[in-house]
Amino acid sequence: MQSVIIRHATVVTQGELGTLQADVLVENGLITAVGTDVSAPDDAREIDATGCIVTPGVVQTHVHLCQTAFSGLAEDLDVMSWLDQWIWPLEQALDADTMSASARWGVAEMLLSGTTSFLSMETTHHTDQAFQAAADLGARATIGKAIMDREEPGTRLLGESTEAAWADLVRLVETWHGSYDDRIRVAVSPRAPSAATPQMWADSVALASQHDLTIHTHVNENRGQSDKVSEANGTRDVLLLSELGALGPRTVLAHCVWLEDEEVTLLAGSGTTVAHCPTANLKLGSGIANVPRLRGHGVNVGLGTDGAACNNTLDARRELFLASIIHRASGDPQAMPASQAFDMATLNGARALGREGELGAIAVGMIADIAVFRAPQFTARTGESAVDHLVYSGSTVTVSSVLVGGELVVHDGQLVNGDIATIRAEGAAARATLAYAVAATRTVGDER
Ligand SMILES: [Zn+2]
Repeated sequence: MQSVIIRHATVVTQGELGTLQADVLVENGLITAVGTDVSAPDDAREIDATGCIVTPGVVQTHVHLCQTAFSGLAEDLDVMSWLDQWIWPLEQALDADTMSASARWGVAEMLLSGTTSFLSMETTHHTDQAFQAAADLGARATIGKAIMDREEPGTRLLGESTEAAWADLVRLVETWHGSYDDRIRVAVSPRAPSAATPQMWADSVALASQHDLTIHTHVNENRGQSDKVSEANGTRDVLLLSELGALGPRTVLAHCVWLEDEEVTLLAGSGTTVAHCPTANLKLGSGIANVPRLRGHGVNVGLGTDGAACNNTLDARRELFLASIIHRASGDPQAMPASQAFDMATLNGARALGREGELGAIAVGMIADIAVFRAPQFTARTGESAVDHLVYSGSTVTVSSVLVGGELVVHDGQLVNGDIATIRAEGAAARATLAYAVAATRTVGDER
């Protein structure tokens, strides 16, 4: 593997060195030096990062690659209508080709906006295509098939038998977990606490423990939905997960907008991560997760864009900006400083995936997952913090280069392992195919 030397950068290390003017040397996939005038092997590839801000790559803790091609189809709806009218039928309509196009599009857009690692939940079928997309384009990915072996209202389109879901899950673990030099990992992803049977949950938790897999699910997104679910189950989601033995440091719960005090205490005590998805929560009118409260109790909180069906861009820069400013609606300008938002997107994300000390920071010995942002409105050494600039001026910074495991996957703003124009065109074609398939299933008299 060719060595890479990044020179003349403003480096946000997220580690002991803080932010400094430095060079970063990458050898054999690892960061081997951070400092001034670092000497590099003669054959090292040099990236001139003059005027750039260099950071650890963003770790996204909640996304759905399978939904990238749904972008723009299901707009201005609450979660339940959004699911019933669009997401269940669209996911059912996905075949291997449209799944592949959707997943490749999602991975590409994330890499091009500085995300190097992500945790994604797919639908019940064709999960291999999502793994292959991440593997081919060079991203670091933890991906799970959605497990839905207990029929909830509206989900009968997608539900699987317990036996079929389990067989597919085990096959995916055997096929993909740890593949591509451990760049690709498998998550256990019951879609929601009540989407899987208690037996499936018990077996899934045991499987996760056996293989050290991330457990990934959705919790308390919409208030009416969580009240209804807790009434049906006789207990609230987080309490149910606790009873199932599903909370812990390897578990990531998306959303958590509506939590009782008891639930917050359980999350903090168990080391469970919450994936904060501010754009998705606001767009679907679900509310704002009280992240300052969670952090105050010591809960690990990561950042996620959620899928493009409720976010549209998958752009980490916009998510960082929103995550930092929305909590100030309370009247407190320090409710979520930029540095805390950036921690969520890097260090906390790495912790969520069990990769603390390996990912999420730039330091000697860490895996070289790095983003180089062109920042034309930033001038080093004039008093402005590079982290503040990245978070508050997000749309003005553009991605120049991205390394994953020391391999260049974006260079000069272009994908190295694919052509973005083709990927977008294929994604758009998949969207048209899927929209047509769903329209064909609508009965006469439906509004849409
Ligand atoms: Zn989601």
